[in-house]
Amino acid sequence: MNRILVCDDSDFVRKMIKRELESSYELEIFQDGVEAYEFLQNDSDFDFAIIDGEMPKMNGWELIKKIKQKPEMENLPVVILTASEDEYFQNRAFDYGAFDYLKKPFKSGELYKYLNDFFKGDINKGIVLVVEDSKLQNHTISQQLKLKHLKPVSVYSGEEAIEVLLKGEDVDTILLDLHLTGASGFQIAKALKKDSRFEYIPIIGITASSDKTKTEMMEKAFLSGVDDFISKPYNLVEFYARVMANVNRGKLVKRLKEESELDYLTKLYNRRMLFKILEHLFSSSVRYKKELSFLMIDIDRFKVVNDTYGHFIGDEVLKEVAELINSSVRQADVAGRFGGEEFCVVMPHTSLENACVVADKLRRAVESRTIHIRDLNINVTISAGVTSLDFNEKIESFIKRADDALYKAKESGRNRVCYCPKDNSVSACIP
Ligand code: GH3
Ligand code: MG
Ligand code: MG
Ligand code: MG
Repeated sequence: MNRILVCDDSDFVRKMIKRELESSYELEIFQDGVEAYEFLQNDSDFDFAIIDGEMPKMNGWELIKKIKQKPEMENLPVVILTASEDEYFQNRAFDYGAFDYLKKPFKSGELYKYLNDFFKGDINKGIVLVVEDSKLQNHTISQQLKLKHLKPVSVYSGEEAIEVLLKGEDVDTILLDLHLTGASGFQIAKALKKDSRFEYIPIIGITASSDKTKTEMMEKAFLSGVDDFISKPYNLVEFYARVMANVNRGKLVKRLKEESELDYLTKLYNRRMLFKILEHLFSSSVRYKKELSFLMIDIDRFKVVNDTYGHFIGDEVLKEVAELINSSVRQADVAGRFGGEEFCVVMPHTSLENACVVADKLRRAVESRTIHIRDLNINVTISAGVTSLDFNEKIESFIKRADDALYKAKESGRNRVCYCPKDNSVSACIP
């Protein structure tokens, strides 16, 4: 059971908190800051603290300050209660290291829901790429994000930001200083929004500007492609609100993007995405006269698997074969589900000969893998057709050759790889 420290000088508020939380949490309740602080000297093992702002003797802000000075409680999430509408008090709470503030009076059930969300971890989680060349400001922003349970990834230039994204860091939103040494934030925003891999990540432009230049800056930022704008010095309440809104949008768009690009069952690229990538690789290989190979794979007699074990088990077999395909190909290769029990692999910079080697290695890997589902042991085999690109052809004939080779592999007994050279000369099978 999570343990919560509660400190409030009002009998009414203490009773209300107790009633609302005592069945789900272990509570230690105090009526003033001095009493709570004394207790904490010997026992600081808490998961959360709810502290009233306005109290006699030692007020809530002072208590938070003291708590945050103790290394063992530095990361304790503290929420401050305040009846004041004044932004000054809210900002002060953040300045002192509070995680959040809650306005009193609260409705019945509100506090319970808040804590429930907090411990479920549904709120305030996400990854923010902080692109800020001032070390001090980068550190400050990162601390502020951590307080909201957001994970900051700090970089100090636009170039570094792109490097981190290319490495595949899973970023939900980007906080981009617009005045960076090296490429400016405006340039970086433009570059990211032009790149289909990163265009969906929300960017918040952030800059120090006088009131006079603020509108101008903001316009330039939006024209460069940023999705939101914060000017320094900023108000923390607004900062958090904007960051959270963008993190949530970033997550939503990422999920939708995944759902539209990946096959739901195997998590390989779906047919639509596979063709988009194939078209792109096809035209760049033709333009730069680079080798490109294409592999079509079909599970042998898969209907029998379904008929014997049912569709559910059939689906599990498809997942395993997809996983084998994905783990057998190189990073630069693109694997997708063509449909049903058919898969494809696009292999840039790969000769027909090498593609055949990969295909046959995969064929053997599937053949020798026994798939365990529940108490069943299932073996399947695959047939594959391979071809490589003729620089003068259309994409349709390229795909058709791989399909013809696959047909030949089926015809000549299954569990084999056949290839069709680009001049359509002889097709042959391995083994
Ligand atoms: P061949 O060796 O000639 O390829 O024989 P096959 O039985 O694999 O080929 P066929 O095209 O006759 O049957 C394919 C089967 O794949 C039939 C279909 O029910 C099954 N299938 C297609 N998609 C799915 C799926 O998503 N899940 C499951 N469980 N089965 C699927
Ligand atoms: Mg009070
Ligand atoms: Mg088939
Ligand atoms: Mg089949």
